[in-house]
Amino acid sequence: MLSHDEASKVAGQLRRYLEDLTVFEGRTFVIPEGIEEAVSTAIPAAMETATSVTGALEGFRQEICECMACPLGKSRTRFVFGAGSPNADLMFIGEAPGADEDRQGEPFVGAAGQLLTKIIEAMQLSRDQVYICNILKCRPPNNRDPQAAEIETCEPYLQRQIELIQPRIICTLGLIAAQVLLRTQTSMGNLRGTLHSYQGIPVIATYHPAALLRNAQWKRPTWEDMKWLRREYDGVEL
Ligand code: URA
Repeated sequence: MLSHDEASKVAGQLRRYLEDLTVFEGRTFVIPEGIEEAVSTAIPAAMETATSVTGALEGFRQEICECMACPLGKSRTRFVFGAGSPNADLMFIGEAPGADEDRQGEPFVGAAGQLLTKIIEAMQLSRDQVYICNILKCRPPNNRDPQAAEIETCEPYLQRQIELIQPRIICTLGLIAAQVLLRTQTSMGNLRGTLHSYQGIPVIATYHPAALLRNAQWKRPTWEDMKWLRREYDGVEL
């Protein structure tokens, strides 16, 4: 981890770089007095927070990964906790692991997952920059819809993941994820296009990538949702 002194050095180098630009290129930058001190405090603090979230999330995974609280614990091959950056500002939430995810222990790695990866890359992001997880952590047999009791049992795990990661924006994938997170029974038609909120975190609902594989006509509207998501996430226009 970067120490106070190292961070201060980086801030000093940055100051000299900006001063050089001022001298050699005639560009002027206003470098506030005391920037070295401010940066050398802020960088280690931010790194400390990032490291502690990573540790807390891993601790939580270890705590719950042998869960047997519902019958899916018995039928699963692997518990699918989530993947990506514990410090992500953008979290994608799907429904439940499928056969490939159950086998590999990672969310969205099958055909729908590969499409999700392409969508994330088309947004000029990577899977490592975001966090991906599901409402249910274990695969329902034959990919049936999650049952109410399974959701009730498993949802606190997702709630804790959100609390730890503190994403700045959430994107739900498919009707079930949106309905569960937003406590609504409304249709995808009604859910899309509105900026929802989950405990103060903005939520955008879009189609599930598996649905896009079956209904190509939903790809264009999904891309519109992703452009909007990126704009809300960091102001970038795709
Ligand atoms: N569908 C989901 O909702 N989640 C996965 O992880 C894979 C497929």
